This record gives sequence, structure tokens and C-alpha cells, in this order.
Amino acid sequence: MSPRDSKLLRDQAYIGGNWVEASDSRRFDVTDPASGSVIASVADCTPQDAVTAITAAQAAFSQWRHMPAKERSRVLRRLFDLMTLHTGELGELLAREQGKPVAEAKGEIFYGASFVEWFAEEARRVYGDVIPAPGSGREILVLKQPIGVTAAITPWNFPNAMITRKIAPALAAGCTSVVKPAPETPLSALALGVLAQEAGVPEGVLNILPSTRAAEIGLVLTSHPLVRKVSFTGSTSVGRIVMRQSAETIKKLSLELGGNAPFIVFDDADLEAAVAGAIASKYRNSGQTCVCANRFYVQAGIYDVFAEKFAKATGALKVGPAFEPGVEQGPLITAKALAKVEALVGDAIAKGAKAVVGGARHALGGNFYEPTVLIDVPSDARLLSEEVFGPVAPLIRFDTEKEAIELANASEYGLASYFYARDLGRVFRVARAIEAGIVGVNEGIVSTAEAPFGGVKQSGLGREGSRYGIEEYLEIKYVCLGGM
Ligand code: ADP
Repeated sequence: MSPRDSKLLRDQAYIGGNWVEASDSRRFDVTDPASGSVIASVADCTPQDAVTAITAAQAAFSQWRHMPAKERSRVLRRLFDLMTLHTGELGELLAREQGKPVAEAKGEIFYGASFVEWFAEEARRVYGDVIPAPGSGREILVLKQPIGVTAAITPWNFPNAMITRKIAPALAAGCTSVVKPAPETPLSALALGVLAQEAGVPEGVLNILPSTRAAEIGLVLTSHPLVRKVSFTGSTSVGRIVMRQSAETIKKLSLELGGNAPFIVFDDADLEAAVAGAIASKYRNSGQTCVCANRFYVQAGIYDVFAEKFAKATGALKVGPAFEPGVEQGPLITAKALAKVEALVGDAIAKGAKAVVGGARHALGGNFYEPTVLIDVPSDARLLSEEVFGPVAPLIRFDTEKEAIELANASEYGLASYFYARDLGRVFRVARAIEAGIVGVNEGIVSTAEAPFGGVKQSGLGREGSRYGIEEYLEIKYVCLGGM
């Protein structure tokens, strides 16, 4: 760590406004995914710590919920300002523990901060309703109230933004929060705790529990009766566990789970734009996002030329560690992630696919994998149904619009989707027909704080960001006034 990082670099948990060790004093190492070297040793929170944090969050709730919305808004606005002020340090810390190129990491800080800015504004717009009553002498009021203590369980691929996307609407609504970040990337989460404290977030309103004991902490967060809502971002398999465990105490849930985004290129597409969009969508964060294009369906008339241009652009991507100038692709997060990508590519090639660029571990070694384009991928290749979460693009040829829609929808997932076309009728038909929560038309990157993010089918429940995002942290109360 450079000395500049020192204020934001914390290695203890943040519970009830205090920086503390785990209750059993255990710690775990955080490593640089590019080199494998240890960059910090961090408190490894216990289930007991989770209970302490929930109790602190409940105690803080009674005051935070009654703070005027305008004041809560100001606190969040200060947090946004501090994030903006510290973008460089936050981005460097994130790049170090996560591995994405430092420019991309700073981009994530802007993106993460944009949720804090947005929900600072939305805090003041939690409107209720007055509904015309069916008979005389009555008034029907609808109040929106904060749900209570909320838990956030977040992944390593966006160590900052996946947290702000949850805590900003929670705090704006008047809820308090207990965050369990991914064990691969706890430092970015703890840095947010430092800035929240400086911004004036009262003690107990935000608690951060770094831990490797994910299942044990998860069990406390999903079963403790004081936690009224759980927001989870991660795999569909863990999402099912979270949902199952939350059933016992009927918690409100938001689940942002796996995706398997189709990327369709129709014959009438702007080819250059489609190639640029494909590169952006596929290789952001080295393919490690739940909205990354996972399957490329290209219409027969332009398949060969698209494949050639896309492969050329893919081959030109610069791979390397986060801090090397000009790097566009970092390492994969872990050796396990690398092994999974390797297995999926191996399976596709064994079944007849051809790698026109890449197709193997990168010469840099470690967790690096070559940006890869596969053509003639057969329909039974595992990477068409499983999320590859790496820099691998399988191309499949199709003939008709109907066929493309059927292929795109042949998935248990339904998070993001993309297509390139210029015919207006086709644009509307396909946008309506695709089974996904997000459709990018002639755009490869569509996430923004202003728009609702979330999936259908087994990609999850609920929406984050936008004016809908705060609703996830509110209860509706109907008040019937009689004798009027
Ligand atoms: P990924 O494959 O992206 O790591 P996971 O779903 O395994 O996705 O992890 C997402 C988050 O869920 C992480 O914070 C992880 O520690 C946490 N997690 C993993 N297992 C459980 C569990 N059984 N209960 C609750 N949270 C869990």
C-alpha cells in the first residue's frame, strides 16, 4: 500500500461505529489476484459479530428513521462528495484487491458513487398517497415507511458499486444496514465505512463484517428476526440458499443472481457499432460481470465478417496487471475461476468449436486467461448454458429473427440481453420478446443509477437503482381515517 492509501485502508470490522477485531480474534489474508501476494490481513468476523452488528443496527434504526429526510439526504450527499474526492485512492485500493485495470476501477468508483448521489436525491421523494374513499366520512392514506434493519451480501466483481447500490437506498429510506462483503475484496467495503463515518452516518446505521465464514454469517443474516430485508448479489445457487433461509422469518428479498446474456447481431446491424458493443459488453472486468455477454448469436449474412472483426479487436486487447499502463484486461479473480473458464473452453473445443483467437491460459501465468473468441460452437457446449465469467466469447450462427429469439430465451436466466439491429419494427418486436430484465439495443453497456437493474426467471427478484430501487427498502402502510 502506498502511504496515500493509509486513511482508507482498514483491517478491522466496522460495528456500531467502532473498528473492532473479530470476536475470536481470527484474521484472513487478502491477496492481489495478479501476483498472489498478500496485501492485507483482515478481521474474520464470526456469527457472534453478526448478531452484535444486527443489534447495533436495530438500536440505530429508531433514531435514523426519524431523522428528517432532508438531513439523511445531506449525509448521503456528503458521502458522495467524499467518494468523489477520494476516487483515486478508492480506485487504486479496488484495483489492488480485485485486479481490474486501475482506470476501470476508478470508473467503478464513479459508478458506485452515482448510486449514493441518486439516492441522496431520492431520499426526499418518498411520497405516500391519498386515495379517494369508496364511501363518505373516510380518508384513505398510504404511508411509506422504512422496513428496518437490512442485510447486504455482496460479491467481489464490483467491490464498491454492489455495496453502494444496496446501502444508499437503504439509508435513504431510513433503514440501517449490515454488510457482508465478499472475502476476496473486503478492503473496498471497509474504505466505504471510513468515508461513511466521516460523512456523519451515525454509529450503528452502517456495519461492515469482513469474513470468510460466509455460510455461517449468511445464516445469521437470513434467519435473525430483527433483519427485515436481505439484499443479495451473487450466484443463483447461493441465492437459493438465501431465499430458503429467509423463508422462516418471511423476510423481504432482493436477489441479483447469475445471468447468461445473449448478444444478437442481426444482418441489418451497424457492424462497427456491434463489434465495439460486443467488446465492451464481453470484456468489461475480464468478463466477470453478471451482465457480460455470454452467448453471441450472429445472423448468417454477416457471421463471417463479424467474427473476423470481433476476433481482431479481441486479439488486440492488452492483458496485464492492474497498474501497468494501457492494460485493458486484468487477471481472473482466483485460480478456481481460471480453472472453470479453462474447463468450459475445453468442453466447447472437444465438442467441435474452434478458437480463432485465444483459447488458453495467458503467457503471463497466474490467473491470467487469453481473451478468446470461439466459432462454430455446438448447441450442447456447456458455456452456452452456464455463466462463463471470463473473457470468452462463443459465436453461434442463426438464420431467422424467430430462431434468434428462441435461442436467446432458451435459458433459465434472464438478466441482461443485447441486440444490434436498425429496422425499427424488429427493434420493438425483439425488445418485447426477449425474456430479460435489461435489454441493450445497439448498446453494450447500459447500467446506470437512473435505470432499474434486475432480472427475471432465475436471475433474481427486485430492482436496484432508479426510482424503483428505494421501494425495496420501504413498507406500505394503509391508514384508514374514519369519522371524517
Ligand atoms: P461468486 O461465485 O460470485 O463468489 P457467491 O454467490 O459464492 O458468488 O458469493 C456472493 C456472496 O455470497 C459473497 O459475499 C459470498 O461470501 C456470499 N456467500 C457464499 N456462500 C454463502 C452462503 N451460504 N450464505 C450466504 N452468503 C454466502
